[in-house]
Amino acid sequence: MTFAKLTRPLRLLLIAPPGGGKGTISSKLLKQHPEITSLSSGDLLRQEIKNQTSIGSQATSLMQSGKLLPDQLVSDLVIKELKTQNLLQGEKSWLLDGFPRTLAQAQILDSDLYKESSQINMVIELKVPHSVILDRIENRWVHIPSGRIYNLTYSPPKVPGLDDVTGEPLSKRPDDNVEVFKQRLEQYEKTVGPLREFYGKQGVLNYIAGDSSDIIFPKVQKLIEECFGPDGKY
Ligand code: ATP
Ligand code: MG
Repeated sequence: MTFAKLTRPLRLLLIAPPGGGKGTISSKLLKQHPEITSLSSGDLLRQEIKNQTSIGSQATSLMQSGKLLPDQLVSDLVIKELKTQNLLQGEKSWLLDGFPRTLAQAQILDSDLYKESSQINMVIELKVPHSVILDRIENRWVHIPSGRIYNLTYSPPKVPGLDDVTGEPLSKRPDDNVEVFKQRLEQYEKTVGPLREFYGKQGVLNYIAGDSSDIIFPKVQKLIEECFGPDGKY
């Protein structure tokens, strides 16, 4: 399936449980649409940890135990990145993965985006069964500098343990284990309701269900094409 060009800017938020495929869907979408920029709060935080910044030092223990970081801190980090990359100026298309994930974060972001007339115009919540994601988490390896994700079962790296693009070593996320995963999942279930309500009221919320990104991605593609392609409905 080829992808029609976007005819207006897409500002997308992907919501999914931990291990629900936000990163995988983002990278598939970016392959079809190099004009989209993706920002993942988890990836930005892992970079801060790697670079040993003060945000990184606050993030380490909270992330390892699967707890959320303070709303203002994460919001500042992601919004700063949106601005640094000039994504709020002109007709840019971008997607956010992992942020906002609480109502407070959504409100902080929304008021900033409103000032720039660049509010989120599509939210997709991915619905994936818990049994599927638990299995994924255990087999997941990441290339921290780029956020590229590998799965030993269905998308292994070409050379075991190394990133396909840079040849650098892959890491296991310290929060990708059964105990912390349970905490992350509980956290998600607690915070997602108010987010749904917030974006539901704005009329931009969509749900897509499936057991794998091979099932989910074509549905994401179709939805985006219907709304942002040449024959877009809106
Ligand atoms: P996935 O497994 O699909 O990457 P996830 O949502 O569990 O999903 P990340 O998004 O990478 O994983 O987030 C990892 C951790 O980083 C979270 O458990 C949390 O500690 C912290 N974090 C990331 N984004 C936020 C956020 N928006 N607000 C607060 N904490 C965050
Ligand atoms: Mg992720």
